[in-house]
Amino acid sequence: MDAVAGVGRAHRASLTEADPLLEAAADILVDGDCMQKETTMECTHLAASEPHPPQGRGCAECLATGGRWVHLRLCIGCGHVGCCDSSPGKHATRHFRAAGHPLMASFEPGERWVWCYVDEATLDVPPSLERYLR
Ligand SMILES: [Zn+2]
Ligand SMILES: [Zn+2]
Ligand SMILES: [Zn+2]
Repeated sequence: MDAVAGVGRAHRASLTEADPLLEAAADILVDGDCMQKETTMECTHLAASEPHPPQGRGCAECLATGGRWVHLRLCIGCGHVGCCDSSPGKHATRHFRAAGHPLMASFEPGERWVWCYVDEATLDVPPSLERYLR
């Protein structure tokens, strides 16, 4: 009788030990979901927007106020040229906040990428934008 009870305890013990493993497996599944969301999430803004020609050759606000910029960004939504977040004015980001235009392309010579503020994703430059870049 004692022996059978001992086996029962051993069974319970091994089941209890299995629980943390199940929890760990659940954690891995959750992590997998997150990774899948990131890779399958696509920016729909870029496909829906027609690029506008740049409104100027430098950051509009910096040129107006005598400010200095580090790098330039081109707003695809309206052609506004603003400065990057390394610049004191951060006018590209301010333009996104003020105008709600989420897509900024690099307006640096030879650089070819687009940043979506909403999706926080780096995107490829569409052919329709290429001719406006430097
Ligand atoms: Zn987007
Ligand atoms: Zn600026
Ligand atoms: Zn804009």
